[in-house]
Amino acid sequence: MTLFPDMVKTVLGESIIGRAQSSGLLEVNVYNIRDYTLDKHRRVDDTPYGGGMGMLMTAQPVCDCHDAVMASMPEGASVRTLYMSPKGELFTEKKAQELLKYDAVVLLCGHYEGIDQRALDIVADEYISVGDYVLTGGELPACMIVDAVGRLVDGVLSAPECYESESLSDGLLEYPQYTKPRVFRGREVPEVLLSGHHKTSTTGGAPSLCARRGSAVPT
Ligand code: SAM
Repeated sequence: MTLFPDMVKTVLGESIIGRAQSSGLLEVNVYNIRDYTLDKHRRVDDTPYGGGMGMLMTAQPVCDCHDAVMASMPEGASVRTLYMSPKGELFTEKKAQELLKYDAVVLLCGHYEGIDQRALDIVADEYISVGDYVLTGGELPACMIVDAVGRLVDGVLSAPECYESESLSDGLLEYPQYTKPRVFRGREVPEVLLSGHHKTSTTGGAPSLCARRGSAVPT
């Protein structure tokens, strides 16, 4: 749910997530909140009560849009509505895995100074932040969440090993990786990866090269 549908469609229409949609593994439906305003000038924002800078998104279009989204869901579907907000719980890989258990996730993107609290109280199950910084809108956070959750959906990546050996999937960061050529600008691929004697994980990685954040410094 957004006021800027093209931002979201453009980002999610490309690469792996775009292909996953084309092949029917994922369905991303972008709702333009402005389509639901009852204002004759199609306005979706207004000045905040009590003063303060900027404009707030009004409650009516957000709630009516959310009603339409919910009405489109199959009977009995488990649905979670997340409001993108710097005040929310920090989005993590663990959270991405948790969200996989829902049939559908609704991502509400704020803009301007945010959204009238009454709409949030009515529609949002939880607030999610993508980091301790403030963006101009929730569209980029929503795209990040679709990307992070979407790649965990069965079949989106070629094999589960692709994400099982990834950074953070087991609390560790991914080991440094190398491809051809064997020597680039005088820098060689570590011997341990060439010898064929290193202890490989089930996913083919080199666990001895895994690290925790802050301890792995690129050389
Ligand atoms: N006045 C709001 C506040 O202080 O919490 C910030 C509004 S921000 C300028 C506009 C919108 O961007 C928010 O409604 C939210 O949807 C989104 N947004 C900004 N930063 C975000 C973040 N770190 N994580 C998730 N969404 C964010």
